[in-house]
Amino acid sequence: MPAVLDDVAAEILDLKKSRGATILAHYYQEGEVQELADITGDSLKLAREATKVETPVIVFCGVLFMAETAKMLNPAKKVLLPDLRAGCSLVDSCPPDKLFRYQEMLRENGRKFQTVTYINSSAKVKALSDWVVTSGNAEDVVRNRVPADCEILFVPDQHLGRYLQQTTGRQMILWNGSCMVHEIFSVHDLLKQKRQHPGAIVMAHPECPANVLENTDVIAGTEAMIQFVGKQTSPTTFIVATEPNMLWQLQNRFPQHTYLPVPGITCSCNKCPHMALNTLEKIRDCLRDGTPEIHWQPEFDKAREVLTRSLLNPPPAVKAPAGD
Ligand code: SF4
Repeated sequence: MPAVLDDVAAEILDLKKSRGATILAHYYQEGEVQELADITGDSLKLAREATKVETPVIVFCGVLFMAETAKMLNPAKKVLLPDLRAGCSLVDSCPPDKLFRYQEMLRENGRKFQTVTYINSSAKVKALSDWVVTSGNAEDVVRNRVPADCEILFVPDQHLGRYLQQTTGRQMILWNGSCMVHEIFSVHDLLKQKRQHPGAIVMAHPECPANVLENTDVIAGTEAMIQFVGKQTSPTTFIVATEPNMLWQLQNRFPQHTYLPVPGITCSCNKCPHMALNTLEKIRDCLRDGTPEIHWQPEFDKAREVLTRSLLNPPPAVKAPAGD
């Protein structure tokens, strides 16, 4: 780490102690941020870990919907997000008023359905949902929690929804949303990499489109990727189609392997611009100033109920939530 960043990192560690803070960082944060974090993880792991934090302050290095989730699950904690502008294209693709009108239309047409919502969504959208899922628990919820006599409206990620349709056999009404990072991996470059590294294992996140998943050996969320790589006993080359900062985490844990990122069609690194907004300087400033803070919003009450039963206390299989 350059000397200036070393200084900033030292300031962060001092402030973390004096402010009573725990730093949580998503695997899509820059390596220098993940390195400083107390806990790193995917959305599901971070949401669960946030409930165990004992300090009064949580600094969430991720995007807004993740920090909101941490706040909803920990109302008494002060949750800070280094840059409030850190959004998500999936969140933007599903405005709550549009979802509400669509649900009303389905009800008026006599359709019996439950809404299964990817965690990459606003709190208002979560509040309109029966279930909230991550790539880590989506299959379980779709297979075991949604009653068999209900259709599934899956929002907002069409690619994850399509993948779940294939793996579970349950037909879904798919929302037309996508992740701006996973949407644009270059299949042309992926095929070229496969030719250049014939023994390599291709891993892709289920947010990728079907043409990428069709050329993939292992379809997995980030936590499942870590588990899979951890089981490989001999040095292996992995071609990885997810946000490229994930490679830092893999390299850090399993340096005996080789990791090759799949480039995007417009950008060779294909990093998430929202995640990139959280810099070390902004983490230091938010610890020092106690802001930007996630404040409780009216829709958090209902969204918290859905989050809690979906991620923390799932009921026995196929028990329909009240009010549906
Ligand atoms: S990588 Fe995609 S899904 Fe994740 S925060 Fe960025 S835009 Fe959203």
